[in-house]
Amino acid sequence: MSDQQDPQQLRDEALAACHIDTLAVRAGQVRGPEGEHSEPIFTTSSYVFDSAASAAARFSGEEEGNVYSRYTNPTVRTFEDRIAAMEGAEAAVATSSGMAAILSTVMSLLKSGDHIVCSRSVFGTTTVLFTKYMEKFGVNISFVSLTDIEQWQQAVTDKTAMFFMETPSNPLCELADIQQLAALAHSHKALLVVDNCFCTPVLQQPLALGADIVVHSATKYLDGQGRCVGGVVVGNQTHMAEVLGFIRTCGPTMSAFNAWVFMKGLETLNLRMKAHCDNALAMAQWLQQQPQIDKVHYAGLSDHPQHQLACQQMSGFGGVLSFEVKGGKEQAWQFIDATRIVSLTANLGDAKTTIVHPATTTHGRLTVELRQTAGIKDNLIRLAVGLEHIDDLIADMQRGLDAL
Ligand SMILES: *Cc1c(COP(=O)(O)O)cnc(C)c1O
Repeated sequence: MSDQQDPQQLRDEALAACHIDTLAVRAGQVRGPEGEHSEPIFTTSSYVFDSAASAAARFSGEEEGNVYSRYTNPTVRTFEDRIAAMEGAEAAVATSSGMAAILSTVMSLLKSGDHIVCSRSVFGTTTVLFTKYMEKFGVNISFVSLTDIEQWQQAVTDKTAMFFMETPSNPLCELADIQQLAALAHSHKALLVVDNCFCTPVLQQPLALGADIVVHSATKYLDGQGRCVGGVVVGNQTHMAEVLGFIRTCGPTMSAFNAWVFMKGLETLNLRMKAHCDNALAMAQWLQQQPQIDKVHYAGLSDHPQHQLACQQMSGFGGVLSFEVKGGKEQAWQFIDATRIVSLTANLGDAKTTIVHPATTTHGRLTVELRQTAGIKDNLIRLAVGLEHIDDLIADMQRGLDAL
């Protein structure tokens, strides 16, 4: 009888057929007895059981339900279910940061002796995690060019268990063909992990292209206003059960408050990403016309070597671009120091535009050699274009040019 059906179940069934904008606003919400419209924040570390038998069943996992907020919290669960729906995944596990998402993925799915083939153009701290810490525990890493499939093929050994990459890359906006890399990884029984932080599921859905796992720094666009640090891992039930086991045991947990802030961010993600993309494209086109600029890196430019792939793989080109000023470090620093509106900070994915000199900040911990092979030149500046009016941002870049 229809009037006996659970309204929550009816809502969930209707949502299953919805678009990503709708999922970003509604997926994963479970309304409580108060009939709240907005998601509540469950600030409780533990939960009460009805009986000793129920407590035992919850701890052993025989009975589903909350136990302890290190690994079960209703606000965090709503955020996880929403991201899983948006990425088209079976499940998601939230973490205390983007780095914790990457750490939890490798710690739960790899073992000593395993080998990772990793793009050379990943987030600097990811490189440090893999080389300084994972290698210490017997996981070996080979770095290869993001764009050269031959190098991935040649780096594979009989121990290779994981491919890891970001596309587009930070800060040079190079792309990998996700479908092609997924096929290669699977032909060697390896997992393909994609850090989808720069695109968010609004612009790119790696699982639909064959990737096995997606990781995010929620700190960036998912929050969108630079307020909270968090991360999330997305994939199938089996993999996510392993990742959750690591979170439960080792504790890099997302707080309920942060999950709530990230959900506020998700509600406007679709609108914001479109605006970031529009502003970034206009900025890239303007920068490209300036004589004091040697080169602009942005996949939305028609002369970007992988523009065609970007058009196929992404539904927008993202908010991050980089450019090379004529000269070296001194000129790059002069440019940055002459700006007045944009923020000099290493964060990105914020409503506020941010500017940074990668060679001496985000990529400063890399050896000179690694930095050079990664193409991070001393005259390179990264701009994560925000939501201010484009004319005001261009005027600020003009201040930078005038200082050269
Ligand atoms: C920022 C970032 C990370 C790390 O995320 P945190 O939340 O800062 O720990 C990982 N990958 C990419 C691409 C990032 O931009």
